[in-house]
Amino acid sequence: MNPSPGTPEIRVDLGAIRANAARLVAHTKAPLIAVVKADGYGHGMVEAARAAKDGGAFALAVAAPEEALALREAGLPGMILCWLTNPDTDYKACIAAGLDVTAYSVAELDAIAEAAAAAPAPASGGERARVQLKVDTGLTRGGAPRSEWEALFARARRGEQEGSWRITGVWSHFACSDDPDHPANDEQERAFREALAQAGAAGLDPEITHLSNSAAAILRPSARFTAVRCGIALYGLDPAPGHTPDIGLRPAMTVRAPLVMVKDAEPGAGVSYGHLWRAERETTLGLIPLGYGDGIPRHASSPDPATAAEVLVAGRRRPIRGRVCMDQFVVDLDGDRPPVGAEVVLFGPGDDGEPTAQDWAEACGTINYEIVTRIGGRMSRTYDDSGDTFVHTPTVHTPARHGSQG
Ligand SMILES: *Cc1c(COP(=O)(O)O)cnc(C)c1O
Repeated sequence: MNPSPGTPEIRVDLGAIRANAARLVAHTKAPLIAVVKADGYGHGMVEAARAAKDGGAFALAVAAPEEALALREAGLPGMILCWLTNPDTDYKACIAAGLDVTAYSVAELDAIAEAAAAAPAPASGGERARVQLKVDTGLTRGGAPRSEWEALFARARRGEQEGSWRITGVWSHFACSDDPDHPANDEQERAFREALAQAGAAGLDPEITHLSNSAAAILRPSARFTAVRCGIALYGLDPAPGHTPDIGLRPAMTVRAPLVMVKDAEPGAGVSYGHLWRAERETTLGLIPLGYGDGIPRHASSPDPATAAEVLVAGRRRPIRGRVCMDQFVVDLDGDRPPVGAEVVLFGPGDDGEPTAQDWAEACGTINYEIVTRIGGRMSRTYDDSGDTFVHTPTVHTPARHGSQG
């Protein structure tokens, strides 16, 4: 690809994020909410958000209000949803920035009402605040439990009548969408339909209703409602390995580093902390200047050659040997002597034989989400915005106010 980096870097292909957004819109035919929380799953929140919108996303979503405020401050227009408030959340700032905040409880709605009362009335005569309601349909994490739906919807409707806010959305989140045959999916979808019916009976008429993350958006047409919330698929990673059809998603992140040392190892030499691995024969070893301080999982260390994570050096995959340390790790070069400075690709789209984030996830006993989100530390992040990978006119589906699947 590019000349070897002198220092370790994360390269983000913005054209891939744009293309992935467009592919998701084309496949689901549903308005796309691009999830860019946790610094865009490690890809850069603002850059990922812009690329997703250029590719056809109509709205953005993040966990924390602070992330949503940062997106607005960076100049991103339109709907920005957040859902994880805390006792110190500055609702006034959220309202002033026109964010969609999520409420799980009557107590939260009371706090938002107080902030809305202090907010200047909008000149247009529209709503003061924009609030979405999250119902728990079986994930049993955030969201209003079923026993509180009625009270939540009644309080939400009263706030609309008092001019505090407009309820712009009602939503929920799947527990098992990466396992499409899991019975919880049907149960949650059924519960969500009940919640929407109750919300309607309470007099609410939200702009959007949404349940599906990437896996469900791709695999469960019945659960698309009036929008889908996709994160991992935007970054080109598989939300449900073993189940997802090929819809042309392309991994957007490549992690590269220079090789910084090559040395010989005698048979029996113990490598790295604890001598977790010993050379069985004479070989050569390469030193890579990245470690768990940069988000390389220490779980990538394995004494078992069959399960060790690998990197691409000089055209071949090389297994990690011995423990991953804070700042560095060692790979087996099997007698080869690439020059110091040679390019090491930890993972990428896989085009040149390099491992993917999915390969790393399997080697580390985790999910691809964690591999890309935790990477960072001292690495620089660079953006490839050549746009050569994809040229298109975005199709932006926006939620239809009526005639939706509700
Ligand atoms: C992170 C998250 C998403 C995105 O999930 P993906 O599986 O990455 O598509 C959607 N909704 C909620 C509530 C989330 O926390």
